[in-house]
Amino acid sequence: MSQTQILDGKATALAIRLEVAAATAKLKAHGVQPGLVVILVGEDPASQVYVRNKDRAATGAGFAVSTIRLPDSVAQADLEAEVLKLNQDPLVHGILVQLPLPKGLDAGAVVDCLDPAKDVDGLSPRSVAAWTLGRPGHKPCTPAGCIELLDRHGMDISGQHMVIVGRSMLVGKPLSALALARNATVTVCHSRTQDLAEHCRRADIVVAAVGRAKLIQGDWVREGAIVLDVGINRGDDGKLVGDADQAQMMGRVAAITPVPGGIGPMTIAMLIKNTFHSAAHSVGVDPEALLTEAAACTPGAGT
Ligand code: NAP
Repeated sequence: MSQTQILDGKATALAIRLEVAAATAKLKAHGVQPGLVVILVGEDPASQVYVRNKDRAATGAGFAVSTIRLPDSVAQADLEAEVLKLNQDPLVHGILVQLPLPKGLDAGAVVDCLDPAKDVDGLSPRSVAAWTLGRPGHKPCTPAGCIELLDRHGMDISGQHMVIVGRSMLVGKPLSALALARNATVTVCHSRTQDLAEHCRRADIVVAAVGRAKLIQGDWVREGAIVLDVGINRGDDGKLVGDADQAQMMGRVAAITPVPGGIGPMTIAMLIKNTFHSAAHSVGVDPEALLTEAAACTPGAGT
């Protein structure tokens, strides 16, 4: 048994948000305040919580934030018109359509309408093409958060074997592209994968992004592996649990992300960072230069 490091996404995300807040203050000197608009359709309780958290984080970073709330009876054409209008608004740098949309609405068609420069979720077809081809553009927040969390803990994935369980467009697929671009060797598993446990045992890094509580068992991962637990599930006792059986992993794996407090906060931090990037680009300022400058004088930076 050895000590398992907890990869604290909450603390790391806070450090990133503080850096963005400091960089936003500097960006204001260039005459621009990052603007984020969230479109929330319907009354889904989980979506309401996610939108509230995003609003709070973006406001805390000094952004102008607003939420457009639409009834689930909204017509597809009206929803798309809303996105097209925001595309034209110079005060809006990031547009986020909270998914999933209520039944009857075509999320793909709505996301297709997004200006890629403002698509801070990185999910529109042109964004997908950009991250797949390794071109500049917004990267999807959850997988970008996975990579940044490892980076900020000094964990280099180059040459490492990453086994991703889950192949959704939101997590598994984009993470496979981002990890490949960072020279990891990537295996992607899904519901038809045979011998899932054997694939996981061959991994240096296991990423669980399925949505099934405690699917990944302790003896499915080799001693000393790293586990990124993306899943968020409600346990029988009402508490949040991940896709990995975390109790079985303790003392076995080298490092693990907790649920809650792991990849969730990192996802929001990446949304904030993507929106900051858009705002800086809109006035021809290099966002990374401002962020580096801000990190150097922000307490907790580099966490
Ligand atoms: P999703 O779209 O439902 O995709 C789930 C994936 O898991 C699919 O690829 C599916 O395979 C695969 N799968 C299902 N059962 C499996 C099994 N028994 N063995 C192996 N693979 C299996 O879900 P998602 O949107 O990617 O989300 C996954 C989880 O991450 C959820 O718990 C979600 O709440 C969480 N999440 C968290 C964050 C965050 O910020 N922390 C962000 C996004 C999502 P098929 O493709 O073959 O169906």
